[in-house]
Parts: sequence; C-alpha cells; structure tokens
Amino acid sequence: MLAKGFLLDLDTAMENGLSTCTAGSWERMEDMMMHFKEMPYERVCYEELEGRYHQLMEELREAGDAEACMAVLRKRYELMADMTAMDLCYVRHDMDVNDAFYAAEQAYYDEIGPKLSDLSNQFDRLLLDSPHRKDLEEILGSYVFALMEAGQSGFDSRLIELAQEENKLLARYNQLTSNGTVDWEGEKRKRNLMTLIAQSPDRDVRKRASLAISDSWEAQRQELEEIFDKLLDNRRRQAKAMGFSSYVEMSYFRMSRIGYGPKEVAAFRELVKKYLVPLSRKLEERRRKRLGLEHLYIYDSGVHFPEGNPVPVCVESAPVDRAGMAQGAAADDRAGMAQGNAADDRADKACGSATGPCGAGDGERAVGSAAACLEATRQMYTEMSPETAEFIAFLLDNGLADVEIRDGKRDGGYMTTFERYRAPFIFANFDGTFENAYIMCHEGGHAFQGYLKRHEEIRERCWNTSEMAETHAMAMEFFAMPYMELFFGERAGDYRAMHLEDAVRLIINQCLQDEFQQLVYEDPDMTAEGCNGLWARLDKEYFPDKDYDCNVNLREGRGWQRIPHIYHWPFYAIDYALADIGALGYYRWMHEDREASWESYLRLCRESGTMDFPSLVESAGLGSPFEEETMIRLAEWMERKLTETEG
Ligand SMILES: [Zn+2]
Repeated sequence: MLAKGFLLDLDTAMENGLSTCTAGSWERMEDMMMHFKEMPYERVCYEELEGRYHQLMEELREAGDAEACMAVLRKRYELMADMTAMDLCYVRHDMDVNDAFYAAEQAYYDEIGPKLSDLSNQFDRLLLDSPHRKDLEEILGSYVFALMEAGQSGFDSRLIELAQEENKLLARYNQLTSNGTVDWEGEKRKRNLMTLIAQSPDRDVRKRASLAISDSWEAQRQELEEIFDKLLDNRRRQAKAMGFSSYVEMSYFRMSRIGYGPKEVAAFRELVKKYLVPLSRKLEERRRKRLGLEHLYIYDSGVHFPEGNPVPVCVESAPVDRAGMAQGAAADDRAGMAQGNAADDRADKACGSATGPCGAGDGERAVGSAAACLEATRQMYTEMSPETAEFIAFLLDNGLADVEIRDGKRDGGYMTTFERYRAPFIFANFDGTFENAYIMCHEGGHAFQGYLKRHEEIRERCWNTSEMAETHAMAMEFFAMPYMELFFGERAGDYRAMHLEDAVRLIINQCLQDEFQQLVYEDPDMTAEGCNGLWARLDKEYFPDKDYDCNVNLREGRGWQRIPHIYHWPFYAIDYALADIGALGYYRWMHEDREASWESYLRLCRESGTMDFPSLVESAGLGSPFEEETMIRLAEWMERKLTETEG
C-alpha cells in the first residue's frame, strides 16, 4: 500500500507517502525545510532499503505488544522519508525529460519501484497478521487495515517484472508525448503551447489549429498504438498472475475502492447518461446561440464566448525577475478532459518565449505571465482563510511550484509531496489560458489537504484513495470561485459560468473513459486499433452532439490516445466524476452558507484517511453520488444557476 505512489498517479502519491517525523522531532523537521532548488539529491540505493525493510520486518515479528509495533512503524516513517530522493528525481526528470542525468536516475527507480512496493506489501502483511492487530486497529483505525487488505489483492511479488516492463512502456509514452510538436505557420511549436491558439475567437484560426494538432497526434499514432497494445498485453498478464478474471476486477483492488464496487459505478454512469447528458445538450445549444453560430463543430468545442474565453489579465507587482523563480518541474488532470481546442492573438505575440508563455522581457510588468498568476494565487489563498494563507506562503516561499512551459518539460500538471520535508509540490504548464488559474485551484486543493495533515503523527492516516483526493482538489476549484477577479478582472463572471458548464461535460467525459476502459479490459482480444472503433461508438452515446467535421483523427475515434490517464492510470477517470459531484455539492452549499460549507470542507480534509469514500461523503453532509436524488438535485441546480448567469 505504502509504495503505491510509484505505480499510480503522482497526484495522489502524497497521500501514500509516509514521514520521517517521530514524536518530539517535529520542530527539527521544520528546521530542515529548505527551498526546492536547494533540496539535495542523492540516489536511493535499493539494497540498503531492502536491508532496512528486512530488519524492520524482523523487529515487527518480535514486537511484544502494539506499542512495540508502533515503534517499528515510526522507523518505517523514517525509511519513507529517506526515499524522498525518488520524488525529487521524478519531478526533476519531468522538468526536462531530455536531461540525461535524471532520465537515467528515473530509469533506475522505474526498475526498483515495483520491488519496493513488494517489500512494503510484505511489511503490511505482517501488520495484517499481527497477533496485536486488534490493539493496533485501536491506534491506527480499522480503515487503515482495510486499505492494506485491498493493497495485498492488487499487488504482490508476482507482478514485479510486469510492473517494471509497464514502467518502461510508460516512460516511452512520456518521452513521445512530451516532445510532441505542431507545424504552425511555418514554425514548429510545442504541442501544449497550441491550446490558446486552438481557442481563438477567430474560427478559421481555431479550425486550422485543431487540424494541425490532430496531424501532430496522427504522426505519433503508430507508436501510441504500439505502446498501448503492449500495455494491454502487460495488464492482462498482471490480472492473470494475480488470479483475477480480468484487469477490471483487479483494478477495483488496485485502486482501493472500499464501500462500493463495479455495480455502483455502472449505475452511476447510467445516472449521468440520464440527467447530465441531456443537460449538456441544452448547454451546448445555448453556447451555440451565444457564439452566434449555425452549428458547432469540434473546433468550436473549447470556446465559450464570441470574444474568446477569459484569459489571465493579472499584472506582476514588480518588474520581471526570472532568476528568482522556481526552476521547477507535472500530468494533466485536465488533459484527459478537454480534447479541446480556444485563443487570442496574444498567443502569437508572447507565448513560447524563453521565459514562459505570455512572458515579458526584463524590466517589464507582464500581463497574465506565470509570475503574475502566481502572485494572484498567493493573494487568493491569503484572503480565503487563515489555513490557506499559511499554506500558500509555505508553498511559494519555498519555491514549491514549477509552472512555466519549457521545451522538453512533461505536459500537464500534478501535485506530489517530498516526505522528508512534508512539503507539497505543484507541477504545471501555464499556457496563457484560463487553465493557469484552474490548475492552481485544483492542484492547490490537493496540496492544501496534504499541508493540513502535515503534523499528523500517524502517517497512515494521511493515505487517501483517489476519488477522495480529487474531491479535495475539485472542491477547491469552487471555493476559489469568488476570487477569480484576481485572475480575470471583469471577465471573472465568464470564467465562473464557463467552469460550471465545463464541469457537466467533464463528468460525462470521465464516465465515457470509464466505460471505455471497462469494455477494453474485459475483452481479451481487444487491440489498440479496435479501441478506436469502440471509442467512436461510446463517444456518440455520451456526446451525441459532437461533430468532428473533417478531423479524421478524432472522427475515427483516436481521441483516447491523447489522454495520459488512459495510458498511465487506468480506471482513475471515474474518480474525477465521483469527486466532481461532491465538489459541485459544495458549490451549491456555498451559495446557501459559505461558512458551514467551508467548515465541512476543512473537516473532510482532516478526516480523510480515516474512513472510506462513501462514509466520508456522508460525514461531510454531502449527497452520495450513487443516489439518484443527488444527481437530480444537482442537475436542477446547475441548470438554474447557469440560466441566472446567462441572464
Ligand atoms: Zn487532481
């Protein structure tokens, strides 16, 4: 369980990490905190960790009572903190996938990661079988044991070689997609710098951009499909080795889904089809009218307003000093959602400069630059609450955010934690679109929850499953709504409306991905080529209004190849959908009682890791996403809310 972070979305790695802190040593830990750039890197040696793990397991076997077991657990926290170098490497490698030093280090960790997961599982097995388990459950809570049980079913030593092979395939996928370029007006541009152009208010520009982006994916199609075929084969063999009928069944354990199963998820998807698909069609029709178009094509999909989407207009408070910014290192939570295309010609002038998107030269005060967006982020969290104020100062003062797009930097955004320092870190690619703000709300939500649990002595209580981790993140997107003036000025209202509309399509999209993956992994003969037909069919069911026009890449169903989660984190998609129902529940609640909803959110963040997802949702006072009543109430409220905004 502990080492799952190596295998799953780093988004949630923090919840799985443990810490060095033992009773009484916390103050010394605080003293150890340093700027990200100064955090020393030294390779973690597998043999040394293995020796320590064996020693700890020996001590655990000999422990005479629960207190003695706890003493061993505290030493394990120390061991986990000593593995911080692995997370530092992960981030620094993502900051530049072409950096040979960190690429080699990462290859080493990809190799030893599964072996460490196995050691961790063996340790957990001893706890599960401990004669002192009853007393330990009193201290740690029974939920921790339920998670460990699920972890045992989802991974063991039979998977080591397959997991190593899987890691190599994913490294190849990262290398390929991080270096994706688009031919645009005689220039080669990094693919993730095309979003702003693809959202241009000029329809012809966005149509051409959408096609150019698709050409770029088509150029990589063969390799993307080859990698996926190998992943399919690898994951089928994993399920077989663990004695499961399919990788779907295994994944419910791998993802530690407790308190609900495939039946509830399938019923949830049906509720989405029944209530949100029709709502989305109404919203699309309104967007069409707002844009003044006769018909919406795929290249219109990222644009919400005739004048273009709101973009950050925040201004740096001081002239640009790039040298002082974090030379940081990210996966896109959104990449999976938006196959989108929105923009203005600011992109052509400023984006892609060496100093990041929409950057200014030295001495100028840049509008919407990475630094300006970070300043707005600081102000937002400072105003939001005393807890978030303390968090953002810690994050930014220690350089724990790398947000600028650079050549060779991995696409997307994520949050991870450096356990030695109990420090969250945000990786992002600011592309000059509204996503600059969105990502600091979403990843900020993850990071804030981790920060809130920073002083938790029993680190097992910091473990989160991903649907709960995403609830922390997505709820923050909505608690941040009243502060959007800081980023978008007069167009903050447009951002709020757009984000709510997007939430509807996001939930639908994640359900589409979940059903797609279920059918893919249930079919023993499915191939990447076959996935295209399947995706095209399901896409029509979930998004009957999409018109791909002459975009062959998307029309023939290859849209799934753009979604990192499909490759990296199978079955993670539904977690966003389940989480967004809770997050929207908070948004609705905020309108009735801001204070009570925020108190509930803080409690939810603190209680996470002590009970399963359905129980946490109930304890927070949110409606269960699995109940029809919740969906009906939410769909009605969103429609009403969006009508008001329109008016
Ligand atoms: Zn997330």
